[in-house]
Amino acid sequence: MPCRRSRRRNIAPTVTSVRSVDVLVVGAGLAGLHTARLLAEQGFDVVVVDRRRSLSAGIRTTGIFVRRTLDDFDLPDHLLGPAIRDVLLYPPSRRAPIRLTSDRDEYRVADMAGIYEHAHRAAEAAGAQIALGVRYAGAAMGLVRFAGADPVTTRFVVGADGARSTVARDLGLDVNRRLLVGAEIVHPIAPTTAAPTFHCVLDPRVAPGYLAWVIDDGQHAHIGVAGYPGAMRAGIRHLLEEFAAHAPGRTAAAGPGVRRGRPIPGGGGLRRVGGPGRLLVGDAAGAVSPLTAGGLDPCLRMSELAAKVAGGYLRTGDQRELYRYDGSALRARFRGRLLLRRALAGIRSPAAAEAAVAALRTRAGRAVAARILFGDGSFPTVAPVTANPLAG
Ligand SMILES: Cc1cc2nc3c(=O)[nH]c(=O)nc-3n(C[C@H](O)[C@H](O)[C@H](O)COP(=O)(O)OP(=O)(O)OC[C@H]3O[C@@H](n4cnc5c(N)ncnc54)[C@H](O)[C@@H]3O)c2cc1C
Repeated sequence: MPCRRSRRRNIAPTVTSVRSVDVLVVGAGLAGLHTARLLAEQGFDVVVVDRRRSLSAGIRTTGIFVRRTLDDFDLPDHLLGPAIRDVLLYPPSRRAPIRLTSDRDEYRVADMAGIYEHAHRAAEAAGAQIALGVRYAGAAMGLVRFAGADPVTTRFVVGADGARSTVARDLGLDVNRRLLVGAEIVHPIAPTTAAPTFHCVLDPRVAPGYLAWVIDDGQHAHIGVAGYPGAMRAGIRHLLEEFAAHAPGRTAAAGPGVRRGRPIPGGGGLRRVGGPGRLLVGDAAGAVSPLTAGGLDPCLRMSELAAKVAGGYLRTGDQRELYRYDGSALRARFRGRLLLRRALAGIRSPAAAEAAVAALRTRAGRAVAARILFGDGSFPTVAPVTANPLAG
């Protein structure tokens, strides 16, 4: 779906009379757009910039939303593919996959161009101004500079500029150092009546430290691989081709495919994600489940807290409002998942992956797998804390 471009691309009238805004959000991904909307709804003057000229270009995600997100957030039904209850987990041999079936609808794959467009419209309707084709170029002496627009001064900066956040670096916040990388091919498929299934392959030859997958949204198949870039000697592009050629569950392409890919924060959330006049959301904050690499739920969930604390701070000037936005508290909730992530990263040979899948065939193993895949804990609720995360 084509994305509507902002009618007001020049976000400052002239350099000599620099425009001043309450909040500048850098990045119009799901995290940036949702935070912008919530802050604009509180009555703040919000500007969002994104270097992309269209939000339907350069999509970086498969778009799998999990049950908990679907339950808690109001995503437009017509933009979501059919509900998925079945997961097939394959060893490297691809033989005898483990089938796990939930008695609830667990996943739906979204039309992400439509989701971004919807979030864009919602943010604009709330009063936020969205400037596309504008690249954040740095901040100094209270002035934020762009390529593609005039500078602004702002009371608050939200860094929603993804896993390799420039805003985080410029504003002295933590930056993602442990990164996975993911890539996928998306191609149209012919209509089918088969029950949609999420195919997951544990094979360190194509997805070292993570998984390869095949899933469809009813209209498109997504075939992807993710893992540690340092272990992908042949390069992710080549591994994706190799996997796609024999991917289990793959449906024949009914048209040309497009590729998506990007780094994925894999460290389990950054600690220092906020400070006076600034905070990070989404991938920029490392807010991705360390085990499932799911980042869409955190984009929405964390943005809600971000907008609350930033709004409180802007209204009162009280820095204690920002204490509630604490990356360390989040990391503490991830401890178990970080351990499992390390275990997954330790599976380095096909033999070890076969053994891991064999262990998951047992009753206890199936219970663990079902808990990871169908549990509610992919990303914890971000609760307020009392300690001062801004110190040290
Ligand atoms: C292949 C792949 C598949 C994935 N699949 C899933 C999935 O199915 N489900 C799930 O939950 N998670 C998935 N993830 C993770 C999830 O997609 C991300 O965590 C989530 O999209 C992050 O959203 P965000 O808004 O934080 O960042 P992004 O969507 O990356 O948005 C950042 C925005 O900032 C802009 N930007 C960057 N620098 C600048 C600058 N200097 N100036 C202006 N703009 C700038 C970019 O153009 C971009 O629009 C996947 C990731 C990958 C790589």
